[in-house]
Amino acid sequence: MDGSTSSGCHGGRETMQAAARTAGKSETLDKLLADYPRGPHDQPQSMCPAFGSLRVGLRMRRTATILCGSACCVYGLTFTSHFYGAKRTVGYVPFNSETLVRGQVYEDIRNAVFETAKPENYDAVVVINLCVPTASGVPLDRLPKAIDGVRIIGIDVPGFGVPTHAEAKDVLAGAMLRYARLEAESGPVARPRALADMPTVTLIGELFPVDPVGVGALLAPMGLAVGPQIPSREWRDLYGALDCTVAAAVHPFYTASIREMQDAGRPIVGSAPVGYEGTAAWLDAVAAAAGVSADAAKARALPAIRGALEANRINARVTVSGYEGSELLVARLLIEAGAEVPYVGTACPRTPWSEPDRAWLEARGTHVQYRASLEQDVAAMQDARPDLAVGTTPLVQKAKALGIPALYFTNMVSARPLFGPAGAAALAAIVSAQTRGQERFARMVSFFNTVGSGETAGYGFNSIPKDPPGSRERYRKAREAKARAAQAVGT
Ligand code: SF4
Repeated sequence: MDGSTSSGCHGGRETMQAAARTAGKSETLDKLLADYPRGPHDQPQSMCPAFGSLRVGLRMRRTATILCGSACCVYGLTFTSHFYGAKRTVGYVPFNSETLVRGQVYEDIRNAVFETAKPENYDAVVVINLCVPTASGVPLDRLPKAIDGVRIIGIDVPGFGVPTHAEAKDVLAGAMLRYARLEAESGPVARPRALADMPTVTLIGELFPVDPVGVGALLAPMGLAVGPQIPSREWRDLYGALDCTVAAAVHPFYTASIREMQDAGRPIVGSAPVGYEGTAAWLDAVAAAAGVSADAAKARALPAIRGALEANRINARVTVSGYEGSELLVARLLIEAGAEVPYVGTACPRTPWSEPDRAWLEARGTHVQYRASLEQDVAAMQDARPDLAVGTTPLVQKAKALGIPALYFTNMVSARPLFGPAGAAALAAIVSAQTRGQERFARMVSFFNTVGSGETAGYGFNSIPKDPPGSRERYRKAREAKARAAQAVGT
């Protein structure tokens, strides 16, 4: 479940890319490369990218999601989906070398799609090609566009083409938005369930459920409301999302979704309402895009945010790294709350929509690393020796081994509000609780005194394990005897 290494899960990435191009997938690969560019180094370490698309599909009502890929990939993806509480069936079309080579796997996918696409059950069926079917050129674009009114969306999400699972969310969200936009352009479409009676702002990015409510409160004085989000929870919400006055790229890496919004004629606003300055700038940008005044909204929101920041001061040095795409926003909020943040690393790419955050952070001495690798994150942490390291699982493990308090980014961000006054209070509370643990970590490190690390890992070892006496010699003789016996057979 790691699509990041240069060797890839199924052999070399270059080999897979070459195979995919030979099999007719050049256009798909070029589009992925344009939308999700590689960074200064190859690709950040991340889980299998397809998980992002799968998750977006599984979270949508009346949507079936079918994977086509190697059994080991599908096992890992299904396991992870259920670990994160999917509560939905993951469809699977298996293949073997014969069905792949003969093209039968495409027929199997087609049959599965026809069997699944029942309008009484589903609005849409999503089929996701993983690495091997993409490299083999399984042509999902030849699937029917709809069956009995059920939309069929086929996407290629190979680990050798999509750098992170965050961006893979956009691959599916963008494909769905495109489909919905073309539907809306060609005739009347279903009305979204909860339709605001004010002009709306579409928030782009997976957010903690309280955040859209908080953003709605920020926008209300401007006569604006929060519309359905992208990724959406239901097909008809896509029409509502497209029908906004302003689209807010609060997660800045949704390149395909943003393109669809632009093609629908919607203005895009970057950054997000984090902290005092972030919220003020964001409200100004939204107001300018919507042609209204931000004064009333700022007068209502900013004093509350200032109050929350002042009541929850953070007196600590913090490094931030993650693969969610909101790392720069978290760093901004930490700095406004008083923290020193020397480094922020994100697995996501640099896009125009995070530019205000990058400029703000760099003006305050923070090093911003896009497409950050684990090695860069670890080196930055070792160099900065923070009071708290916020990062991915392997970084957190490393930090704890060094006695540095650490916090898993995903748990912190996805389980707490980030925007407006609620975000300011929530983040400060968890940071101060964690930094208080520093002394406990130091005690733990000195208590264990390297037990269980390096060659002492495992029960019963307290030094470098020794070979049993004479074993090397015995093995050498056995190998030689075997080689001699093989030669004798050959003569
Ligand atoms: S789909 Fe590709 S990146 Fe994902 S686990 Fe399988 S081989 Fe790895």
